Amino acid sequence: DLTSTTKLANGVEMPWVGLGVFKVEDGPEVKQAVIDAINSGYRSIDTASVYGNEKGVGEALKEVDVKREDLFITSKLWNADQGYESTLTAFEATLDRLGLDYLDLYLIHWPVPEANLYQDTWRAFEKLYQEKKIRAIGVSNFKEEHLETLIQGSEITPMVNQVEFHPHLTQEPLRHFCLDHNIQIEAWSPLKQGQLFDNDVLQVIADRHNKSIAQVLVRWDIQSGVVTIPKSTKAHRIKENADVFDFELTYDEMKQINQLNKDERVGPDPSTFNKR
Ligand code: NAD
Repeated sequence: DLTSTTKLANGVEMPWVGLGVFKVEDGPEVKQAVIDAINSGYRSIDTASVYGNEKGVGEALKEVDVKREDLFITSKLWNADQGYESTLTAFEATLDRLGLDYLDLYLIHWPVPEANLYQDTWRAFEKLYQEKKIRAIGVSNFKEEHLETLIQGSEITPMVNQVEFHPHLTQEPLRHFCLDHNIQIEAWSPLKQGQLFDNDVLQVIADRHNKSIAQVLVRWDIQSGVVTIPKSTKAHRIKENADVFDFELTYDEMKQINQLNKDERVGPDPSTFNKR
């Protein structure tokens, strides 16, 4: 169920399924989505400083009847805040907005190759981790080359890499690299932001299991060993997206879905995304 977890390199347990809140408005909208999610069993929430809704997420967390240690809260450091000192400051601001005294997972949102600051940023992540202000530290949108550079000069290897991942972008080489380095892959836009719901191959598989395409996608993530954070603000869909623990995709179905790959992104290419 939604309490099932994967063990990260440092032993921290991370739920396989969480709620993503990208583009969800701060205030009542995000607050209600987080409350609905936690009431339907979610324990993991994925936000980011740049989403502008950490405050609303924090308000929801105060209202729910789940102990802090049973929740798994992720946020991300925005590109403009990269650098050692600015990371420390940005982290405190994130904690403050969320109303928390520690994070479960903190990610460098993008490598921003042009700025060349992700190694300095990572020093600050290592410090915050050692001070036990974050239970696990990781990155997002890092390609092999960025991970290589980071790992070479660092004491701690990132525990998670959150990347765009769905049947049109299966990220095979990067997944192998991460497996080799004990870096857990986490899928963003696991539903390709709604662009896979008319796919015939997925529809046949969904019908066979009496499930929706969204549920097949979430299930495919888990069976691929990928943590997943589908986004919805509708209570019935939030529930639906997590109702994936009562069926299993066959080996052939997994293969059919993998074969849909087109190396096609909905988001920017991390190598050239330098927006700050
Ligand atoms: P997604 O792939 O989760 O798709 C969400 C869209 O699908 C929503 O607009 C919703 O209307 C629709 N939807 C959701 N459930 C549905 C259902 N059961 N039936 C029909 N439609 C449904 O897209 P996303 O929000 O881009 O990605 C998920 C999360 O990943 C984000 O909320 C965010 O937390 C994270 N993310 C991270 C990055 C990054 O750079 N690290 C980038 C994008 C997203």
